[in-house]
Amino acid sequence: MSDESKLMPPAREVATAAPSANSQLGPDRPSQRRPAWLRMRPIGSSPAALETRKVLRDLDLHTVCEEAACPNLGECWSQKHATVMILGSVCTRKCGFCNVKTGRPDPVDFAEPARVAQVAVELGLRHLVITSVDRDDLSDGGAGQFVRCIEAVRALAPHTTIEVLTPDFQRKVGALERVVAARPDVFNHNLETVPRLYRMARRAASYTHSLHLLAQVKQLDPQSFTKSGIMLGLGETYDEVLAVMEEMRAADIDFITIGQYLRPTQKHLPMTRYAPPEEFEALAQAAREKGFLMVSASPLTRSSYHADRDFAQLVAARRAKLAQNACASSSTQI
Ligand code: SF4
Repeated sequence: MSDESKLMPPAREVATAAPSANSQLGPDRPSQRRPAWLRMRPIGSSPAALETRKVLRDLDLHTVCEEAACPNLGECWSQKHATVMILGSVCTRKCGFCNVKTGRPDPVDFAEPARVAQVAVELGLRHLVITSVDRDDLSDGGAGQFVRCIEAVRALAPHTTIEVLTPDFQRKVGALERVVAARPDVFNHNLETVPRLYRMARRAASYTHSLHLLAQVKQLDPQSFTKSGIMLGLGETYDEVLAVMEEMRAADIDFITIGQYLRPTQKHLPMTRYAPPEEFEALAQAAREKGFLMVSASPLTRSSYHADRDFAQLVAARRAKLAQNACASSSTQI
């Protein structure tokens, strides 16, 4: 799983809410006591959230919101914002922080892209985030299904912008190039943690390769927006996070997300600490100083949290930067 596997069971208030067949959304696993800044309001039963669930169920789509037990599910679904997870709900990898099931994956569903496009229409999405499980069993790593989904959304919902949150495609030849050629509006691939912790957290992945993949996206399509995220709470140091930021900027990544790792179950990697909000603010400031166009850093930040709003800001930030550069170069010429 490439992506939001850091996402976690909801806070105590949500987990202990009365279960009912239709009224309560989201996972129901018990969780440990959390600091106040990570406790969520139980708003998963709003009419809009229930409608979001109905649309997703009727279209038989998986979401990372549910599979990864995201703490933001109530809020996002109440705004009809969900992250679709394609290529089934079973991942071929077993990352230590990830809550998605692993094992023998489902066959590729060639009718899925049409349903992904339909969800954009039925939920009236301005911006759609599409992610997937890792599919190391497929010759293209799942790239073809990403492309089919992008094409289907473009055809049926041409005003919906598209963000892909991809796996690393296990370096399958031509896989990345195919997805970039389909021109998603945002290409997201998470680094997840600092390189020292890869052997523990992302055993089947390579930090260098993931970074290279993001740099390659920009080389292949300089107009694209690239995005990547990491988690705090796996044992990283502050300086290691700053070093990752430097390497992200060297790879020309536009948008960084930083959130809190929350341990899904006792079988997953332990969480070393709750980083306080002030630390996220300090990192956000450092990221802005390093030149990222957009920064989202908070305990509840996830790759797709507020992705529609953030995309609009990303576009505006690039325009402002281009205008500033043009202004600077014309005053130099004078
Ligand atoms: S933050 Fe992303 S994964 Fe979590 S509920 Fe919102 S859209 Fe879904």
